[in-house]
Amino acid sequence: MPQLHPHLVPIFDEIVRRNPGEPEFHQAAREVIESLAPVVERHPEYADAEILRRLCEPERQIIFRVPWVDDAGRTQVNRGFRVEFNSALGPFKGGLRFHPSVNLGIVKFLGFEQIFKNALTGMPIGGGKGGSDFDPKGKSDAEVMRFCQSFMTELYRHIGEYTDVPAGDIGVGGREIGYLFGQYKRITNRYESGVLTGKGISWGGSLVRTESTGYGAVFFAQEILRTGGDSFDGKRVVVSGAGNVATYAIEKVHQLGGTVVACSDSSGYVVDEAGIDLELLREVKDVRRARIREYAEARAGATYVSDGSIWDVPADVAIPSATQNELDESGAAALVRGGVRIVAEGANMPTTPQAIRVLREAGVIFAPGKAANAGGVATSALEMQQNASRDAWTFEHTEERLHETMRAIHDRCLETAERYGAPGDYVVGANIAGFTRVADAMLALGVI
Ligand code: NDP
Repeated sequence: MPQLHPHLVPIFDEIVRRNPGEPEFHQAAREVIESLAPVVERHPEYADAEILRRLCEPERQIIFRVPWVDDAGRTQVNRGFRVEFNSALGPFKGGLRFHPSVNLGIVKFLGFEQIFKNALTGMPIGGGKGGSDFDPKGKSDAEVMRFCQSFMTELYRHIGEYTDVPAGDIGVGGREIGYLFGQYKRITNRYESGVLTGKGISWGGSLVRTESTGYGAVFFAQEILRTGGDSFDGKRVVVSGAGNVATYAIEKVHQLGGTVVACSDSSGYVVDEAGIDLELLREVKDVRRARIREYAEARAGATYVSDGSIWDVPADVAIPSATQNELDESGAAALVRGGVRIVAEGANMPTTPQAIRVLREAGVIFAPGKAANAGGVATSALEMQQNASRDAWTFEHTEERLHETMRAIHDRCLETAERYGAPGDYVVGANIAGFTRVADAMLALGVI
């Protein structure tokens, strides 16, 4: 692991000591702190004001009981979380994740990442994240509705268009946002569109929000290619996952002339040399809500692998878009053997620190999620803008705004990395550009 600047060691040690049993939060914090050595040297005012120590402590953490009744009439109990991490730049903003693996440490890692990601977009949004250990898989629509209503019955008192604006994440899509918004509206007696993003188009949502994270990650990779005088044309691409981020990443790669030859779910992966057939993938995952194995069963020439690693599939570009720490050291080594040149994170922290080291040593360009997947939250901010002005933009206009934002984030990362002595290093660029924007706002707002 890279050494920390001596001034930063006690800060990181304190994070580990005060947040026991939260390895994902430690990992996310360490990755940012490792990048900050040149900032410490140039900006003693940040240390004087204890900016980093304040930033690593959430402004507010809410944990609550979510009781609900299943279709068999049994009472179930889940746990709800909302970590309101930093609001120096705007209302807390970040998704809700419904997955059995959710715990406080996971929500804190995601909320921490969100601070810097949101700052990088240049938009007026702070960072937060939430969710529950509820598993929507195998639940009926009515059960999901009752769960969402119970979840919102507590959450509503903590959120608002000027306070905290949740959105979707793993396990939370349009269906769940609808039930959550319905309950918020009912309890508060307010049609406050700006309180949630990812809404349906007919009730305050923005075109392109659904597509934005996947599209954005591909736009980011396209900028990397363009900087090297290249394009997606003719490139072989591997995208892990088969959810919201993955499917729209696949769609955009195909639009730009590349071919996605493999994708996955948590049971296995499929290889389709002819290019993933998106219509079939959506039929399997979204309509049937089935396992990806059924894709290979329905498609001539496609194969399903249940006991391997998707990173064994050779590719020029890899876009991990499933979950945290899904790309480990051996996966990275396999990608390098397969000739990968760019890894752009569609998911949040899908690449382990050891895997990042392997990629870097092999000269692979690595784009961290807080830059490459910022298109989702950026388009959420555009949704808030449309809600505030009671306007609705066209698909083309909104996609162009997303594209411009991804270009700007890309350029901001490169320019910052260069300025701080790490040319071409997107991790350093993203961390420092995000950190300094938040730090300057925190300095201006005083010790609060
Ligand atoms: P979805 O729930 O829509 O999809 C997640 C996909 O990943 C599913 O196909 C799921 O398979 C698969 N998956 C989950 N765990 C694993 C695993 N251990 N191994 C392999 N596959 C797995 O979520 P999203 O697409 O919304 O989110 C994916 C990632 O992108 C997350 O890290 C999220 O935080 C991040 N992200 C999402 C944004 C958004 O706008 N939605 C914005 C920015 C980041 P299965 O069906 O088997 O569970």
